[in-house]
Amino acid sequence: MAKIVRVTLLLIVLLAVAQGAWKAHVRTSDWSETLRVAVYPVNAGASPAADSYIGGLRRPVIEPLAVFLREQARGYNLRLAEPIEVYLAPRVNAVPPAPPRNGSAAEIVWWSLQMRWWAWRHDGFDGPRPHVRVFVLYHAPAAGLTLPHSTGLRAGMIVLANAFAGADNEGGNNVVIAHELLHTFGATDKYDPATNLPLYPEGYAEPNAVPLFPQRRAEIMGGRIPLSRSEAEIPRSLDQTTLGAATAHEINWLK
Ligand SMILES: [Zn+2]
Repeated sequence: MAKIVRVTLLLIVLLAVAQGAWKAHVRTSDWSETLRVAVYPVNAGASPAADSYIGGLRRPVIEPLAVFLREQARGYNLRLAEPIEVYLAPRVNAVPPAPPRNGSAAEIVWWSLQMRWWAWRHDGFDGPRPHVRVFVLYHAPAAGLTLPHSTGLRAGMIVLANAFAGADNEGGNNVVIAHELLHTFGATDKYDPATNLPLYPEGYAEPNAVPLFPQRRAEIMGGRIPLSRSEAEIPRSLDQTTLGAATAHEINWLK
């Protein structure tokens, strides 16, 4: 009897998750309303430096995300003037489950379910219900430290972004968050994972520029500014990025 109850409960939870994901897809792909994006700071390594940085975080730090999407949307004549609005949620005093490295499809699905459960349990935001929840894991900058991969989950509309604590890194952090946010809207990567070089032409901000190199900006899903056929640099802020036509198609801004 207990087993039947357990299985039934699990089925109900799975159905609710599936229905929630489906509704999120519909709501977030027709751009009929401004989507609410809540950013939850997390101290990834329990360092005092990241702790005091998080304590001083204010909404203007993440506002460039909304400005970027507003300006890019205008370029595609999107009817909705403000694609997103951003909210700074209270910090989360727990670290989310780490995504699997090169995980199998089953491992990724399992992690995604755990992540959604974790996000639901640690949601202390009391503002309007967000469409997308962005957990930003702040790391204290240290020489030679490279950040783990960030992830944007279309199913569940959750972003897990790794960022450096510190005012100097805010522009770069917003580039990472915008990239992952666009994954939740359906955009795909436009770089070669083996070399991190943007793919031509879809990963270039100005694929028709003459001369082609150096490019002045990065395509947001291409990730880097191509300087030559074999070199590319990470943009320091969203001012150095654009949202290209291939990405605009994927997120339903271009029909
Ligand atoms: Zn990506």
